[in-house]
Amino acid sequence: MAKNIGSSSSSSTSTLKELEIMYGGDSGWVEPRTLCHHLNKLCSHLSHIPIPSSPCTRCDHTSENWLCLCCKDVLCSRFVNKHMLEHYQESDHCLALSYSDLSVWCFSCDAYLDAQVILQLRPVYEIAYLLKFGEAPPLRTI
Ligand SMILES: [Zn+2]
Ligand SMILES: [Zn+2]
Ligand SMILES: [Zn+2]
Repeated sequence: MAKNIGSSSSSSTSTLKELEIMYGGDSGWVEPRTLCHHLNKLCSHLSHIPIPSSPCTRCDHTSENWLCLCCKDVLCSRFVNKHMLEHYQESDHCLALSYSDLSVWCFSCDAYLDAQVILQLRPVYEIAYLLKFGEAPPLRTI
């Protein structure tokens, strides 16, 4: 009958500690945030988004672009012509999804957001994943 919730937490904590020692510190890896106060800027029609191979609307660059989650423009990265960054500076559209690895970046938070944990982001993450890989994302066990 007992569900044993949390009974295995001691071993997973020690594993986490080991990972922190291996990858922590100056490796540059930052945990994505699970909280962002700019989600009110999200476009309310994210069930239809451009395909991941869409070109940048400003320079026609075709790979590793970002999708603005506020107006659904596709714009290139800061490593190409910085059009997503420019767009944020002009319009304050701070939420963008990377079509290269499907991570979500908030320019205002200056941080990655966890699209599988933040409920408002999960639907568009799943649609982008489906468009990119042709299948639904695997369920992550938390
Ligand atoms: Zn934010
Ligand atoms: Zn561009
Ligand atoms: Zn926008």
